[in-house]
Amino acid sequence: HARRENLQVVPYSAAMAEQATGRLAMVRQLRQAHEHREFELHFQPIFDLARGRVVALEALLRWRQSDGSFVPPAQFIPLCEESGLIVPIGTWVLEESARLHSRLAAAGHGDVAIAVNVSAVQFEAGMSADAIRRLFERHKLPAHALHLELTESVLLRHPEDARSLMGALREAGLCLSIDDFGTGFSSMAYLRELPLDHLKIDRGFVRDVTRDSRSAAICRAMIALGHGLGLSIIAEGVEEAGQLEWLRAHGCDQAQGYHLGRPMAIDALLASMTLQAGK
Ligand code: C2E
Ligand code: CA
Ligand code: CA
Ligand code: CA
Repeated sequence: HARRENLQVVPYSAAMAEQATGRLAMVRQLRQAHEHREFELHFQPIFDLARGRVVALEALLRWRQSDGSFVPPAQFIPLCEESGLIVPIGTWVLEESARLHSRLAAAGHGDVAIAVNVSAVQFEAGMSADAIRRLFERHKLPAHALHLELTESVLLRHPEDARSLMGALREAGLCLSIDDFGTGFSSMAYLRELPLDHLKIDRGFVRDVTRDSRSAAICRAMIALGHGLGLSIIAEGVEEAGQLEWLRAHGCDQAQGYHLGRPMAIDALLASMTLQAGK
């Protein structure tokens, strides 16, 4: 209030106000985009390194513009989280992923799981084991058809609640992955306490794994740590054949990245999976 009365900072306040209006307008656009179904999911394959085949698809949110281009999620998900819109959008992502799994099963790929990103806001406000159980029933999904990718931020605010919800979600049929491992407020304590299935090594560590001995040491340690806890390890951001070889040689279980496959629209993806299966 003191600032608003100070004429000297008017240009500054005006800029701030403009920014706030810009954000409000953007939130309004996002809400409309959701109502008008302008979001879509692209899917990136996750490969099992020992068997050399697709075991999961990560669902990645895309906002299609009228000119056919896409706004990347980094530009709108933070605003969806702040405004709470991520809760209905996240529910839609789960529903859409379940629908896709039915299509996969019909095409003979029922053993391929869909990995869904869930932000901390959505996890706290929009997830329940009952809703997940109903989702599995409605779409006749087999257990483990869906994976949830959670970041460390989910676990920070209410670790006890997070732990009991995770246990219930797992009983309802979900597999749980910890995403971007090592980039947030990692704690060994939560790794000991939480019911988890997969640990995803952030692409920041994978990027230099063949060139930088420190990145290599961290990846080796994460693989050993995860395996010691009975988790399977997924490396993300694999862009080069050399990285893939390194990961395979060091016992990493699964990998995804541009070298293996880009995120794709569903029809292109189904076509490519049919091709692969026919090989
Ligand atoms: P993330 O969960 O870490 O997803 C992986 C990101 O890395 C994706 O970016 C993917 O397109 C990109 N990527 C995959 N392979 C490579 C590679 O080889 N090199 C490089 N440089 N990048 C690669 P995208 O699609 O832009 O998504 C960004 C983030 O937005 C995701 O990061 C995730 O945190 C969030 N996000 C995406 N979809 C959803 C969603 O449905 N719900 C929520 N809550 N968050 C989502
Ligand atoms: Ca992810
Ligand atoms: Ca990630
Ligand atoms: Ca990441």
